[in-house]
Amino acid sequence: MQFDLQIDTIESWIRGRGFASVALQLPEGLKLRATELSDRIFRDTGAEVVVLGYPCYGACDLFVGYKRYAQGLVHFGHAPIPNLPDDPDVLYVEARAEVAIAVPLQAAMAQLPSRVGLLASVQYIGLLPEAQALIKASGRIAVIGRGDARLCYPGQVLGCDCSAAVAEEPDVDSFLFLGEGDFHPLAAAFGVKKPMLVLNPVTGEVRDVDRERDRIVRRRFAAIEAARNAGSFLVIVCGKVGQCRPEAADRIEAQLRAAGKQVTRLVTDELAPAALLPYKVDAYVSTACPRIAMDDAARYPHPMLTVSEAEIVLGLRTWDGYVFDTIA
Ligand code: SF4
Repeated sequence: MQFDLQIDTIESWIRGRGFASVALQLPEGLKLRATELSDRIFRDTGAEVVVLGYPCYGACDLFVGYKRYAQGLVHFGHAPIPNLPDDPDVLYVEARAEVAIAVPLQAAMAQLPSRVGLLASVQYIGLLPEAQALIKASGRIAVIGRGDARLCYPGQVLGCDCSAAVAEEPDVDSFLFLGEGDFHPLAAAFGVKKPMLVLNPVTGEVRDVDRERDRIVRRRFAAIEAARNAGSFLVIVCGKVGQCRPEAADRIEAQLRAAGKQVTRLVTDELAPAALLPYKVDAYVSTACPRIAMDDAARYPHPMLTVSEAEIVLGLRTWDGYVFDTIA
């Protein structure tokens, strides 16, 4: 799979801003290209290049301290999060997938209902208008919904933001997500009740994630039950610019204390099982990336809950009122 890394655009931007140095921030899947990009940009522009080795999972991870190392920052693999502060010295390179949608979509057309909600991760977001036109040409309705202020594009899904799917749901029979892997379509599926089909534009494979969604929801139920008798909680706040939710921590801490629980707040940028071992508590409540609890909870020594799950533990919300934790 080829991704458009927009090297000409990057180099024009560096020259235009007059930068003598630039930092590159890449998600894990693109770090393999780091040395090649660094060499090429240095050779073509003369700007010193530093590669940031920190983990990078989303635009929420934007390395805001880049000025210590370089005049500008190129952040790869994600679209900007519009409701975060804008910085003209940061360039986002979304790394759009270079793939055509017509052939795989026509092959999948017979599996689509009469009203389809279209969704994609940012790598495939550019395919949505053509997909919409093709589906409409087949006599079906195709909807691309506008989500909340955390999303850059209509139809876009983040791992913590399904608001585009929620906006489409009243007008569709099922959803068609364009992309690879389970991470993003599961986020969309957590927030809606209608079926979620996934079309991989590269392989043409069509599948649904409903069974995987139900499996994760059952695991969340088990985590909530396991935390019912917890007496002490570690409430975790992430310092990353796009994940920091101290107000949510304030609220759940007050609710936990009102229920007689012992509470400790932990602030950290990287959440990992080994990093939590020293803290003697019965359960965790994470206000960081919601997917840590949803996808990775089994790796932690104690139940890891989202805020809304902790509210169920406290009896402030019923299981029927379960909501996927989103960062709004
Ligand atoms: Fe992705 Fe998590 Fe960041 Fe949301 S908070 S953008 S799911 S890494």
